[in-house]
Amino acid sequence: MSRYIFVTGGVCSSLGKGVAAASLGTILETRGLSIRMIKIDPYINVDAGTMSPYQHGEVFVTDDGAETDLDLGNYERFTSSPLGQDNSITTGQIYRNVIQKEREGKYLGKTVQVIPHVTDEIKQKILKTGEVQGVDVTIIEIGGTVGDIESIPFLEAARQFIHDLGKNRVIFVHLTLVPEVSGGEFKTKPTQHSAKALLELGIQPDILLCRCSKPLKEDLKRKISLFTNVEEEAVISAYDVETTIYEIPSTFAKQGLDEIVVKKLGIKCQKSDLRAWQEVVNIYINTKQIIPIGIVGKYLELHDSYKSIFEALIHGGIANKVRIKLVKIDSEKLEQAEDLSKYFDSVAGILIPGGFGQRGIEGMISAANFARVNKIPCFGICLGMQVMVIEYARSILGYDDANSTEFAPQSRHSVICLLEEQIGLKAYGGTMRLGKSDTKLKKNTLIYKIYEKEMITERHRHRYEVSNRYKDELESKELVISGTTLDDDLVESIEWQNHPWGIGVQFHPEFISKPISPQPLFKSFISACNNYEKK
Ligand code: GLN
Repeated sequence: MSRYIFVTGGVCSSLGKGVAAASLGTILETRGLSIRMIKIDPYINVDAGTMSPYQHGEVFVTDDGAETDLDLGNYERFTSSPLGQDNSITTGQIYRNVIQKEREGKYLGKTVQVIPHVTDEIKQKILKTGEVQGVDVTIIEIGGTVGDIESIPFLEAARQFIHDLGKNRVIFVHLTLVPEVSGGEFKTKPTQHSAKALLELGIQPDILLCRCSKPLKEDLKRKISLFTNVEEEAVISAYDVETTIYEIPSTFAKQGLDEIVVKKLGIKCQKSDLRAWQEVVNIYINTKQIIPIGIVGKYLELHDSYKSIFEALIHGGIANKVRIKLVKIDSEKLEQAEDLSKYFDSVAGILIPGGFGQRGIEGMISAANFARVNKIPCFGICLGMQVMVIEYARSILGYDDANSTEFAPQSRHSVICLLEEQIGLKAYGGTMRLGKSDTKLKKNTLIYKIYEKEMITERHRHRYEVSNRYKDELESKELVISGTTLDDDLVESIEWQNHPWGIGVQFHPEFISKPISPQPLFKSFISACNNYEKK
């Protein structure tokens, strides 16, 4: 019998609900349970694909090509829940489905209403994931903060889950804030109020995760318990960890979070075993060596814009037993700089990430040039690879105006251009090359040595490609096309010859990296950066 855990948030946003929900998933998996994770985003966009990274951070891509909220990245890193179209629900999707059904006459003349039609649609979508043979627990994170107008239909659907399935199959975990005010006093009032806001919607939280700077004392937990009707043992401190977010599952387990969950849901299973996660934390604590990596990006003001890349670099660090210092370098600033060495002298490697639009591109091209000429390890991802190709075409092939048609449609040397099927497309949402596909690696290349196999599968999210017209010319000197699609048609990866580590990939390896199984390219890149640093 499958069970459901709804995770809601109170007081304010950005308290780390995604990491909290994912951490609960981690612990339950180590208890031998098969879990599924779902994120609900109450915005009207059908998916995150059309949104700027400044809105909600990076767009996370799943194997099946869903463009989702970055919390699915947390689920990917913390759990082994399969993730795809069905694990990301938005208001836009729900209303689109309801309106389509109405147009098809499926409601048989009824007035179509939020309750029951919209709430039914939400419930069906969740049940589709949860009611699958072998799934024990589905964790559903409801985005936003309780009290927001947008999330009300989702909370109402969640409330009906208890009504439909019974109290022993559905529980509510509520994440709130217990702020510390001047004088070091912790305040419980915001938590009391947000538990009340949930109650007004007919939902009594079963467990409270209290975000706080330090673990809460027993008397404070007792007070919160008294005012919120949540059992004292179910008031958990979600305190700031000093090491890494990967310690959070252990901090929850130590307070018995998973014991309470399985007790309330009547699940019989083995005890949790977080040794692998503790090992990650130990490596982090015990490594003194710090490797600075320069990330030459253009959405750097918001840390979450490059969330998966930053985390994958950290995983690469864990694999090499070093800590990573993220040095964020605004590519637009490089465009005015006389001397780039002031930006790059202190870094051990340069990563050029993905992105869209012309802003900051020339700065990225300069960074690729600096890395190539000075033999600094350089990793180009998606747009980053395209930039490496443009730089190479300008500097080595002598095409001064080499560019991508994305940035300079009139260029005479468009080494990066649109795929035929993309030309003339009007719609923006969901029209890129998306999701996982296979890449064939060329033997005797660095990337082949890294993956140790000929066929790999990675995720994509892009429109533009290396132009086939330039393939031979690109390979005629110091560049190798090291990976292609299976039909040899599209370039998937390139590398610089006569360089210690210069790899560009058209795909997004960051999306599949986990702290306990770092993605091989990141592991190898950090190893090369470590060698460079030693020199
Ligand atoms: N803008 C480029 C393209 O569409 C790169 C996309 C990306 O980096 N994700 O091909």
